[in-house]
Formats: sequence, structure tokens, C-alpha cells
Amino acid sequence: MAAAIPALEIRDLHKRYGELEVLKGISLTARDGDVISILGSSGSGKSTFLRCINLLESPHQGQIFVAGEELRLKPGKDGALVAADNRQINRLRSQLGFVFQNFNLWPHLSILDNIIEAPRRVLGQSKAEAIESAEALLAKVGIADKRHSFPAQLSGGQQQRAAIARTLAMQPRVILFDEPTSALDPEMVQEVLNVIRALAEEGRTMLLVTHEMNFARQVSSEVVFLHQGLVEEQGPPAQVFDNPRSERCKQFMSSLN
Ligand code: ADP
Ligand code: MG
Repeated sequence: MAAAIPALEIRDLHKRYGELEVLKGISLTARDGDVISILGSSGSGKSTFLRCINLLESPHQGQIFVAGEELRLKPGKDGALVAADNRQINRLRSQLGFVFQNFNLWPHLSILDNIIEAPRRVLGQSKAEAIESAEALLAKVGIADKRHSFPAQLSGGQQQRAAIARTLAMQPRVILFDEPTSALDPEMVQEVLNVIRALAEEGRTMLLVTHEMNFARQVSSEVVFLHQGLVEEQGPPAQVFDNPRSERCKQFMSSLN
């Protein structure tokens, strides 16, 4: 029997900024329903890795497969790789939801308009259809009453929940979270983690860069520890948190206590 095609597969990803090699060959496979947490010290390359996956940054080497389809890349200026086919990258990007540390909502649009914009423009949904699904998503993340508010009128936790609803509205195959709670006041962290936990429980495929170690331990199917642009340790949460093989991973874990 053929193995199921992974939702996302990255092979040997390299990225440098000038002389600085930030990613030195990272491979990762996310199967449907996997929740993969990515840990590592500041500067270890976590954000760069996530951003290269949907070409927010240009990698220098490597392959990216979304649901088995290889993203076609070509050399751009300064030798980094760029999309070879704009239609393909737009299509594949819409399958890779991205949730940023700083929400990145459009400040001049209401919460509802923030959510329906891309489904209307990219997925070709009618306005009525997009609004119906947006309202269901806002209810799901617990801010249905905020649909006519503007981002600045919401707390950080509410803005991040709106950003997650906006990502879900695109029906992505995989969701990439880059420190989704790091910009929040402590009392708002839990409400956002609860939304992410609910997504994990319904079987969403997610890559999650986080410093919330207890949360990562609870929701992850797999944990990856990056160190200086390489995967230093990788395995189930019980291994990486409680019994890491790598000395650096051990040090990182004990520095958090
Ligand atoms: P992390 O998210 O793990 O904290 P990053 O991926 O943001 O790490 O950064 C990895 C390294 O790449 C750091 O040394 C950082 O300074 C460097 N870096 C990140 N973005 C840029 C950039 N746009 N230009 C130059 N260096 C960068
Ligand atoms: Mg980062």
C-alpha cells in the first residue's frame, strides 16, 4: 500500500543572509493531523524557516512539497530561489496559512472585512458565502460580537484570534504559527492557546514556533529543536522535553526552568 502523501514536506532547506548561513539544511515532514512544535533559542532560524516555506523569504537551496506538489523554484537575484510560476505559488500559498506574532490585520478594515477579503479575492467566494463562513469562524474563536469593530478596538488576544479566523477562512492544508502569543500580555496568552488547542484537537496540521513549553508538550505530535540553523533534536514531546539526546537541547530545556 502506498504511504499517504504528506501535507507538507521540506527537504534540505538552506538560507543565508549575506555571509551568515541561517538555515544549513533543514528537512521536515508534516503528515495530516501532525502538530509539530519548533523550539530553539532566539536567532536559531525558526522564523526564517517558517518564512522560507511560503517564500516570504527566498531560500538558497532545498525543495518544498505541499500535498505532494513540488513548489517550482528558479534562481533569482543574488542566487536565492524564487517562485518559477506565479500562479503555482499563489495556489500553494493559499494552502499554507500563516499566523504572525503581530497579527498583521489590516487596520483600516473591520474584523469581518479582514476575514472575507482573501476568500473573496483568491478563492472567488461570493460576498454572502464569505460572510457566512467568516461569522462561523468568529464564533468559533469566540469574538462573534467584534465583527464590525476595527483591529485597534480589540485587545491583543482578540486580534490574534481574529487573525487565526482570517487564516482559517482560506481553508489551508497546513497552518504555520510564528510565536502567536509572544506579543501578548500574559493574561491573554491562554485564550489564544485555547483556540490553537481546539484546532489541534480537530486534527489540523500545524507547525508552531513557540516558547510556551507546557503547551507544546501537550499538543505536539512531534517537537523539533533548532540550533544554529540545524535540527539538533527531533522526536515525540516526551523524548525532547524529558530525555533529550543532545546536550544543547538539554541545556536549552534546563535554562527554561
Ligand atoms: P528566530 O526566529 O529563531 O529567533 P530568525 O530566523 O529570526 O531566528 O533569525 C535567524 C538569524 O538570521 C539571526 O541571526 C538573525 O539575526 C538573522 N536574520 C533574520 N532575518 C534577517 C534579515 N532579514 N537580514 C539579515 N539577517 C537576518
Ligand atoms: Mg522568530
